[in-house]
Amino acid sequence: MTDFTMQIDADGIAVITWDVPGKSMNVLSREAFSEVDGLIDAALTDDAVKGIVITSGKPTFAGGMDLNTLAIIREEAGDDPARGLFDFTMNGHRILRKLERAGLDPKTNKGGKPVACAITGTCMGIGTEIALACHRRFMADDPKARIGLPEILVGIFPGGGGTTRYSRMVGAMAAAPVLLEGKTLDPKKAKGASLVDEVVAPDDLLARAKEWVLSATDADIVKPWDQKGWKMPGGAPYHPAGFMTFVGASAMINGKTKGVYPAAKALLSAVYEGALVDFDTALRIEARWFTHVLMNPSSSAMIRSLFVNKQALEKGANRPDVPDQKADKVGIIGAGMMGAGIAYVSANAGIEVVLIDAAQEAADKGKAYSEGLLDKGMKRGKVTEEKKAEVLSRITATTDYAALEGCDLIVEAVFEDPKVKAEVTKNVLAAVGPETIFATNTSTLPITDLAKASDRPEQFIGIHFFSPVDKMALVEIIKGKETGDRAVAKALDYVRQIRKTPIVVNDARFFYANRCILPYVNEGVRLLKEGVAPALIENAAKLVGMPLGPLQLTDETSLDLGAKIAKATKAAMGDAYDDGADDVVFAMVEQGRLGRKAKAGFYAYDAAGKRLGLWEGLAELAPVADEQPDLTEVQHRLLFAQVLEAVRALEDGVLMDIREGDVGAILGWGFAPWSGGPFSWLDMLGAAYAADRCDELTAAYGDRFACPALLREMAEKGQSFYGRFGPEAKRAA
Ligand code: NAD
Repeated sequence: MTDFTMQIDADGIAVITWDVPGKSMNVLSREAFSEVDGLIDAALTDDAVKGIVITSGKPTFAGGMDLNTLAIIREEAGDDPARGLFDFTMNGHRILRKLERAGLDPKTNKGGKPVACAITGTCMGIGTEIALACHRRFMADDPKARIGLPEILVGIFPGGGGTTRYSRMVGAMAAAPVLLEGKTLDPKKAKGASLVDEVVAPDDLLARAKEWVLSATDADIVKPWDQKGWKMPGGAPYHPAGFMTFVGASAMINGKTKGVYPAAKALLSAVYEGALVDFDTALRIEARWFTHVLMNPSSSAMIRSLFVNKQALEKGANRPDVPDQKADKVGIIGAGMMGAGIAYVSANAGIEVVLIDAAQEAADKGKAYSEGLLDKGMKRGKVTEEKKAEVLSRITATTDYAALEGCDLIVEAVFEDPKVKAEVTKNVLAAVGPETIFATNTSTLPITDLAKASDRPEQFIGIHFFSPVDKMALVEIIKGKETGDRAVAKALDYVRQIRKTPIVVNDARFFYANRCILPYVNEGVRLLKEGVAPALIENAAKLVGMPLGPLQLTDETSLDLGAKIAKATKAAMGDAYDDGADDVVFAMVEQGRLGRKAKAGFYAYDAAGKRLGLWEGLAELAPVADEQPDLTEVQHRLLFAQVLEAVRALEDGVLMDIREGDVGAILGWGFAPWSGGPFSWLDMLGAAYAADRCDELTAAYGDRFACPALLREMAEKGQSFYGRFGPEAKRAA
């Protein structure tokens, strides 16, 4: 079986078609790269061939590189993985450079064969890098298709020549959205950004590419950087304009990444250093930086969590073996903030929705939320009038439970009150058929208890969304004691339909995500109470990769919610509850400083609700101590508070799969993505060091840092989490 085939047509054009058998998307493997190498040689040396068109046999062009390849190469290289990765990268450069030079004489730049790329649809990563090495790019006109270089989003950067080629095509500044932010563009925007040259009706794509090949001259196929006197657009580093660009870009990257993402820095270094030398040396530099990033444990951890494992979970890695449970009609009870969002994502995914609230006005308001989001999408050119009408027509807003007839899934999102929920459950079950799966979106109430309101607890489950529903990628699926396999499969299939990432956990207080985030927030407030400067607390968190400092996060979620949770937890736990710094939160609430919604919290806000800076009154509430801890100490307290809770969740059997623990942490609450998640981070530290740190932190700050027995045992046995609990270990067991 081959991934690439070549056919020479009557005009002498060699059409190389990429079509990986048995896959819906083309991904590039190492073997296939060698195949392409051979085909390019054959086309370039065959006198009957006038030019080349590279295209895809699928409606899409490419999904990118098979990232597992990188892991395999690293392993195969044994003692010298950097050498293995560098050689592999340089071999890729050699192949694409050969395609780009296409037989041109190095001295005269004459005698080459034109190479066009006919991009049939979505084109990512190495697919785009192959296209960039061609002389002209044609893309099928499909507004849904995207082209780009999103490598940065999984902790690496375009290392197949894309960084060097694209920055030389448009200049460092213009390349930044595509290279540094990983933005992907539709065909028209891609033309504006010079990623493609022509946008063509899909049916004319191949013909137009061939036409160009037949008409192209030597001058059309020599890349600007292979011509005499070439200058970097926007200026190279020692040019006045270029100087400004690179100084600004460096500051911007450090500002945005806080220095914790090695890939962004490496990418900029590759562009900067590459811009000072000739093209082939620049590719070598790019390969060095690429290898450097691949050798950083952060990149393997990010690829593992954000690419390999995220995809595995989305494809149903932990789905019970039950026939397809796709949802056709979903009933959503409670049209408040959560219900309205759940209605939108469901209808948007093509599912019929019945949205119920106690009053018609509330139900209508819930539906209007979808309208608002669709209007916003229209303003940004992402949603058409027809699409808006179609999505809205799928939502029936009503107070009438009879409308629930035919619903195969219910998602309940009414007030967080067991009595209200129990009554709603009974009313719903009286209106739906015996097969319907009932899910609750509760954030704190045990699923097993709520299931008591149902006479079919095996069909009762938790589907916990995060706010705002349309933006947050994670959905936590919670199994009650009696929840059956079909309910789990239903929840997983539904989450897949709405294109979110699921994790499946067992029922326990706060499930998984909230269980870990609360200690983070509490540790932040404890630090404040101890007299640690608030700016140190917030910056320590951000400098270790948390998207929000604990004080800002508390403001966002509101202090009265924090106080409510503290009181409820204390009531449930009794003497075992540690008050920590609850008094600080209570004092804030008493003063009406409830957070962003009150325009007053740990931060000060202006009248329009814009966050200004840390509230000056904090100095009175918690005076800043003369001696301040060092940065790492604060960071360790903030991170250990979270990861130890994740380990306990694993010990308790709440988490059943560490992959879910890592992916859920990054997508659910933004746990330092560079680390790959709590378990990946602990693996980076090593269990022995982590256990020692626990002992030190416990001695200094108390038992909440006590080393979990599991971690202690792993430290003694020299084990890692992925070594012991990863998918390979599970398969071997
Ligand atoms: P909300 O107050 O915005 O909405 C609740 C809605 O339920 C209201 O519109 C109310 O009129 C309606 N309602 C109440 N009783 C009803 C009844 N008997 N019949 C029909 N409708 C009724 O609350 P929310 O923030 O959307 O939260 C809803 C649920 O989702 C809660 O269980 C909450 O714990 C959970 N949750 C909230 C968040 C969050 O960030 N807000 C996140 C995850 C889960």
